[in-house]
Amino acid sequence: MALIDIRDVTKVYRMGDMEVRALDGVSLSVEPGELLAIMGASGSGKSTLMNVLGCLDRPTSGTYLLDGQDVSRLSRDALAVTRNRTIGFVFQSFNLLSRTSALENVELPLLYAGVPRRERVRLAEAALARVGLGERMDHHPNQLSGGQQQRVAVARALVSNPRILMADEPTGNLDSKTSVEIMALFQELNRAGITVTLVTHEADVAAYAARVVHVRDGRIVSDERQTPRDARTAMAGATPPTAPGPEVRP
Ligand code: ADP
Ligand code: MG
Repeated sequence: MALIDIRDVTKVYRMGDMEVRALDGVSLSVEPGELLAIMGASGSGKSTLMNVLGCLDRPTSGTYLLDGQDVSRLSRDALAVTRNRTIGFVFQSFNLLSRTSALENVELPLLYAGVPRRERVRLAEAALARVGLGERMDHHPNQLSGGQQQRVAVARALVSNPRILMADEPTGNLDSKTSVEIMALFQELNRAGITVTLVTHEADVAAYAARVVHVRDGRIVSDERQTPRDARTAMAGATPPTAPGPEVRP
């Protein structure tokens, strides 16, 4: 069964008497274990799609089955419960609290969930170790590089043990070398069984995904599988193998 299954989804924003169709009949299904990139120009609807997929926003029309559960008509509160249990988020701007240590930033979702302090610390330390920041837990964001800050954000997304990791332009504020490192982390987490969907407008970043969906004017215009570039290999400075031509999904 698909983990994510949206059908004929629209999202219409009304501003006065203006109507913006940010999503215009989108259907997409994602199997457990996929690493999917959503690409498209600025304003094409990528973030809107990610927000719907991530249960941050409800579609205007259409259906959404998340792990078999119809979430398209849930109340805001019920949607939040499902979201917190299933999905971890990473954003372009990291969204870390600046006067707070890496450890406390990662603890935050557990604090909201009412997890006792000792357990919080244990889980947050494990998540930071998993992203390679075991030695930097006491650092504040301004004592960390952009790549390290994004790792803290990934650890915060992972700490609740989500099945899905969703990232909106996660490398948008990073240089190309650091971007590859973050993609290596996503590939590693994906190999460990986490389904990853990420939004990017950079083909260099989408090259690390096994499936690439292109969005234009609120519609999916292509959906292709490819042999992903291996980020570890790219980091080692080896020439990445040239991927064969994209194969259009049946
Ligand atoms: P992308 O992430 O691909 O740049 P978005 O999903 O942010 O695109 O936006 C898609 C379209 O919807 C754009 O025309 C944008 O201006 C519009 N839009 C997005 N969010 C809102 C909002 N909250 N209110 C009104 N219009 C919005
Ligand atoms: Mg966007």
